[in-house]
Amino acid sequence: MTKRQTQRRTQRPKWSMFPLIHDNVSRLLNADGLQFTFHDLDDDVSCIQTYDTSIMGRFSCHNQRCRSDGWTSMKIAITIRMYEGKQYNARVYYQRCKACNLLSKPILDESYAERVAYRLKKWCGVELEPPEFSGKSKGPHEKEFCEGCKAGHCSEGGRMEELEGYEVSTR
Ligand SMILES: [Zn+2]
Ligand SMILES: [Zn+2]
Repeated sequence: MTKRQTQRRTQRPKWSMFPLIHDNVSRLLNADGLQFTFHDLDDDVSCIQTYDTSIMGRFSCHNQRCRSDGWTSMKIAITIRMYEGKQYNARVYYQRCKACNLLSKPILDESYAERVAYRLKKWCGVELEPPEFSGKSKGPHEKEFCEGCKAGHCSEGGRMEELEGYEVSTR
């Protein structure tokens, strides 16, 4: 039996979790009296809630022969998951350099903790204002560089497909 939805060791990772930002998430949760622990296992099967959305951050290309000096993304795909016993984690998908196609791990900004805490609060029934940041991107989402799209967990990629499907089915 192979483990499903875990990354094969021979491949470069296409996403990762960010347990070190747990403190920031905790702080936001504590403001509403919630306490969660970080679920270390990257497990798609045992979670009781899951939600695909996007956050913001920066990428740099680590290919020394590539002339790209990195890029900022308003739409980094993220899958937030909740587990039994007030546990959670989040999988953040990498993007590829447009110049050389090398995979890159993002450096996240505060939108990670805000988004994750917001979703967990929603799942716990906390009344909330919608988050202020909208992360509007200019132009179409470039799926070929987004590992979230390839894994079928990108809110941006999925939304576009839904719209296309909708147009077709209503004509
Ligand atoms: Zn590059
Ligand atoms: Zn995507």
